[in-house]
Amino acid sequence: MAIDAPSSTFFSPWPDRLRHSAIILLAAGLALAVLVAFGELSLLRAAAVFICIAAAALVPWRLHNVGTSREDVRGVDPVETAVVSAVVAGMPDPAVLLDRAGRVIHLNAAAAQLAPALRKNELAQFALRSPEIITALREAIATSESRRATYLDHVPVDRWMELIITPVPVPTPFGGTDKCMLMTFHDQTPLRRVEEMRADFVANASHELRTPLAALSGFIDTLQGPARDDAKARERFLGIMHAQATRMARLIDDLLSLSRVELSAHVRPDTLVDIVPIIRQVADGLEPLARERQVTVDIELPDAPVSIAGDREELLRLFENLIENALKYGASGGRVMVSLILATSGEGVPEVRVMVRDFGPGIAPEHLPRLTERFYRVDVGDSRAQGGTGLGLSLVKHILNRHRGRLLIESVPKNGATFTACFPQAKTPTAA
Ligand code: ADP
Repeated sequence: MAIDAPSSTFFSPWPDRLRHSAIILLAAGLALAVLVAFGELSLLRAAAVFICIAAAALVPWRLHNVGTSREDVRGVDPVETAVVSAVVAGMPDPAVLLDRAGRVIHLNAAAAQLAPALRKNELAQFALRSPEIITALREAIATSESRRATYLDHVPVDRWMELIITPVPVPTPFGGTDKCMLMTFHDQTPLRRVEEMRADFVANASHELRTPLAALSGFIDTLQGPARDDAKARERFLGIMHAQATRMARLIDDLLSLSRVELSAHVRPDTLVDIVPIIRQVADGLEPLARERQVTVDIELPDAPVSIAGDREELLRLFENLIENALKYGASGGRVMVSLILATSGEGVPEVRVMVRDFGPGIAPEHLPRLTERFYRVDVGDSRAQGGTGLGLSLVKHILNRHRGRLLIESVPKNGATFTACFPQAKTPTAA
């Protein structure tokens, strides 16, 4: 039966049922009148029989019309049951229809999968067992108002479901309505995860800012007190304060860059830029650091321009992070190689690949999958000592995502690390 072409008995049953009662009464009245006319029945007896027939035909209708029936919908005719069952089965979220006692009348496949303990004709309270859900169900039955509760599922992974209990009127066999409860489950897990990530991010960012701030105020106290007249200590402390202030500024810069890139993540840059001079500019800018760390930087770049659709400022940040990391963490290798090649990805997409390779201590394999998480560091102390914020590779990943590129990280412990930024080649090979 099509749900959008409802039967009249399901949606407007009273006129039909009343008409049937009237026909029964008319037929009974005529039959009794004939019997009285032929002297087969006294008028008094005929009147008594008619009253009994009228009561039998009308009283159930009356009782159900004022909603005093104790019947539940399991007595509804098969067509109506099939429609209710089809509606519950067709709901995209897990859904369960309960009678007024909380017994399961219908449940869809999603609900059966979510809570296998739920069974037809059994109390939902026994299957769901949560005091919060039982209270919400009891209140919804008592007040005829919707109630919400949280349903937690731990197998196979943690899931948070919002449970909404909505009282719904369902037809009864005699045409009245009975109050049933429609329980629907809505998955809130992605929202919760985002909320947890946001809370973690705020906690991490505040912690990272508070550490240099605490150092700064400590040194200010010392300079105002015990070291007031100590010129040598003052020089040293001012140097440390300068480094801490620089770190704070860098952290704020990285946070702002990250949020800017995230905001425009869905808008792919459409300007063609030549990537070669960008890499050279970054390498030139980092020459003082390379000299300070005694690292030789070998650059192998093509003479011809190599264009990609890109954002110049973001590309500068990206290469700066990769080359600076190689100089900071791979300094012990004494050498860093920066090269560019044209290649084809596994899916056959022509790519521009920029490789930054160092020959330092490398990274243990267990850290590789987490390196691009915000604030993730292999060694927090080492990163802080180098003025790191733990946001660099996260920024690199976001910039590459925006450019529809990808980051490859390969490392052999004790034999250096290679970070490769892959960009799709521009369709028109002209330099910007
Ligand atoms: P940070 O600001 O700490 O440098 P990044 O996100 O740039 O943050 O890097 C995350 C961590 O990855 C670093 O703290 C470091 O432990 C590790 N790392 C990054 N680049 C290298 C590298 N070339 N060699 C070894 N470890 C690296």
